[in-house]
Amino acid sequence: MRQFDKSQELFARATKLIPGGVNSPVRAFRSVGLSPLYIDHGVGGHVFDVDGNEYIDYISSWGPLLLGHAYPPVQQAIAEELKRGTSYGACNAREIEMAELITSFFPSIEMVRMVNSGTEATMSAVRLARGFTGRNKIIKFEGCYHGHADSFLIQAGSGLATYGQAGSAGITPETAVDTLVATYNDLESVRHLLERYPNEVAAVILEPVMGNMGLILPEEGFLSSLRALTQERGVLLIFDEVISGFRAARGGAQELYGITPDLTCLGKIIGGGLPVGAFGGRRDIMQHLAPLGDVYQAGTLSGNPLALSAGIAMLRELSREGFYEQLEEQGRLFESLIRPVIDRYSEHLSFNRSGSLATLFFRPGGVHSNAEAKQANTEQYARFFRRMLQEGIYLPPSQFECIFLSMAHSREDYERTAQAMILALEEALGH
Ligand SMILES: *Cc1c(COP(=O)(O)O)cnc(C)c1O
Repeated sequence: MRQFDKSQELFARATKLIPGGVNSPVRAFRSVGLSPLYIDHGVGGHVFDVDGNEYIDYISSWGPLLLGHAYPPVQQAIAEELKRGTSYGACNAREIEMAELITSFFPSIEMVRMVNSGTEATMSAVRLARGFTGRNKIIKFEGCYHGHADSFLIQAGSGLATYGQAGSAGITPETAVDTLVATYNDLESVRHLLERYPNEVAAVILEPVMGNMGLILPEEGFLSSLRALTQERGVLLIFDEVISGFRAARGGAQELYGITPDLTCLGKIIGGGLPVGAFGGRRDIMQHLAPLGDVYQAGTLSGNPLALSAGIAMLRELSREGFYEQLEEQGRLFESLIRPVIDRYSEHLSFNRSGSLATLFFRPGGVHSNAEAKQANTEQYARFFRRMLQEGIYLPPSQFECIFLSMAHSREDYERTAQAMILALEEALGH
């Protein structure tokens, strides 16, 4: 049995000073009934905890580490930049380099502004959409996550209420009424809201590929119909590509599915493991931002040269010819090695994968919607997670988070994972 003594000691100290011991709730491991691991360091596709245990890491910092931990070109870029300084609160050339890279990969992004997190990106994009259209309401989809700004922590209302209810304490009813909640992969749910609130909706925001209820893919025609419908009604379409950007394809899910949104939010990968976010899109919309226009948005550390140097080094690696073919190959290899194990338990499981993102759902029959995802057996997942951790496989500590593959994973990692799954599924499913 792996021992977690030092992690447990640290967690005991942390809980005295940090609410729940963590700075982001999922890290607390509550839904898998454990106390969290404290990570000491990472190398390639592996992490090591403070007790000296090694794991194959399938979290990849929730997406950014597409090239693995401590990737040398990213480390070197940070080290070089660090020699010059860390922050000036003034213009620096890295900002332009980053803007050039982002706009070259995303044709829909004509202008871009850098921020420090995905939350800031979505929050600012929505403010801009409201300022641009002069309308107050937004539509989001149940199960999509857009960070923790008030407008997004809203869930579908019950019964006849079509407006949202706060999904967290501390959000005013006045905020909640401006967020309408639709059903992913259900165009009619959006049309219904647009008809009920004509000329009131500023924007529809969604993860084009849903990555925050586990992985759920858009059904054929859903995104293109949504694009047509929003265009027809003068409603802006905002793609939150904080996960799918630079992962679904170099140009995100919008490239993969051939859709042009009005605004796009980016995060995670573009920081190469440091805190960076960005939002951008149509020039005529972006020009409404201060100091050009009347939508205020700012940040002391925005465009931070150290963080951008990491992101730029990362994006340069991704621009390599053939990179995304290799990434898809990683995904295919992973799937081909674990598929026979999953198939043995197909009466209990569904598996979704797109490129380097995947989710094993403890629910049979396929998962195509938020409602189906919610039917997953989270107790079985928790048992599965705990055994996998003992076998040295570090999965997301929640059924509703994606597995993030990286280029640093090897065939041997995947083979070890498949072996461990045989034991863990046997235990989780009580055969
Ligand atoms: C992680 C995430 C965010 C929030 O990003 P933070 O950097 O955690 O603020 C927003 N949207 C999506 C789709 C995400 O996955």
